[in-house]
Formats: sequence, structure tokens, C-alpha cells
Amino acid sequence: MAIEVGKRYIEGKELKCPVCGRDQFWSRHTILQGGRLQLLFELGWAGKNAENHVCASCGHVSWFLKPLKR
Ligand SMILES: [Zn+2]
Repeated sequence: MAIEVGKRYIEGKELKCPVCGRDQFWSRHTILQGGRLQLLFELGWAGKNAENHVCASCGHVSWFLKPLKR
């Protein structure tokens, strides 16, 4: 995913930062498995594809967990 600042839409709705209320985010993908994310691993989220939208203003990270696409 391109590291591009802009608006993000989740389920068709515009994402707004819950902290500062801005609507500009950059995004990255994280695959959850072991290591520092061991807790998530134990919760059965291993191998899940997480989408992180990071607020370009305050840096708040919104996490969205989705099944891996094949
Ligand atoms: Zn923010």
C-alpha cells in the first residue's frame, strides 16, 4: 500500500481521527504473527492482515483487522 496521505473510507464511511477529528491519514499493512504481537497471536489473530491508518496530524493509529486475501 502506498504511503500516501489522504482520506480513508471504512465500509463506505469517511474515517475521522477519534482523537483530533482530522481526516488525513497514511496507511500501512501489518501481518500479525508472534514476536512483539504475541498477545494478539494468542488471541487467534495470527496470520490476519491488519490495516493501520495513521492520523497525519496527531499520529493516532486506527487498526482494522481483516482476513488475509488469497
Ligand atoms: Zn489525529
